[in-house]
Amino acid sequence: MQRASELTHARCDPFNARLNPELAAHIQGVNGMKLQWQNGNPLSWDSQKVVCVGRNYQAHAQELNNPIPKSPFFFIKPSSAIALFSGSWEYPKHLGEIHYELELALLIGKPLRYGASTNEIKQAICGQALALDLTLRQLQTELKSKGLPWEQAKAFDRSCVISPFAETATIPGEEVEVEIRLHINQQLRQRGLSSDMIFSPISLIQSALTYFSFEPGDILLTGTPEGVGALSLGDHLKAELSQALPETSCYSSTIEAELNIIQ
Ligand code: ZN
Repeated sequence: MQRASELTHARCDPFNARLNPELAAHIQGVNGMKLQWQNGNPLSWDSQKVVCVGRNYQAHAQELNNPIPKSPFFFIKPSSAIALFSGSWEYPKHLGEIHYELELALLIGKPLRYGASTNEIKQAICGQALALDLTLRQLQTELKSKGLPWEQAKAFDRSCVISPFAETATIPGEEVEVEIRLHINQQLRQRGLSSDMIFSPISLIQSALTYFSFEPGDILLTGTPEGVGALSLGDHLKAELSQALPETSCYSSTIEAELNIIQ
């Protein structure tokens, strides 16, 4: 039996809440799972937010009839949007059509503030993962056309699905070329090279820092390549992140993630 004082304390402090797994699951996110490293260890931090960029691949901007941006623009997904890219994902049927957007995710391990140097940003990037920026496209289009903010279409519960993180020895998209691929039911739907990004990860972070500081555990999503589309019940998603091997034209797979869309 837990004393009321312990319960109150635990509700304010998720680190303490880990003492009670049930309560911890409740506090740590709507799917009760914590983001982790590839070896299964949980991240040392609770991620507070995911900073996302709209239109960072030319072909994707064109497929949604958007102009090519001259500077990046950002939106935020809160911690309640975070879910694991592993196992199954329960489709919230009351929300209508949900689109997938596969993206390269970067994990920040040190505080970053406005004016941080390129070097400080490089030092702060400690992990890479695959992420799905799930989107209520119809609602987003509707809200956009009315000139209203489209947060509901992007920041809803479990709308940011993230695979286990691989540690970064070299910064993907900066010091090494990476490729992300998404197969749905064994069909290739999305493929993007980091060299196709309009803004590089470091310049994205530099721009984002104008508005948002980053805390350890925060995550940057770097935009989606072309080929976005709707999810259906029963879909099997398989995503891969490969890194270009130096001085060859080969890619070696570093991260794989699978997800089943269930009722
Ligand atoms: Zn996106």
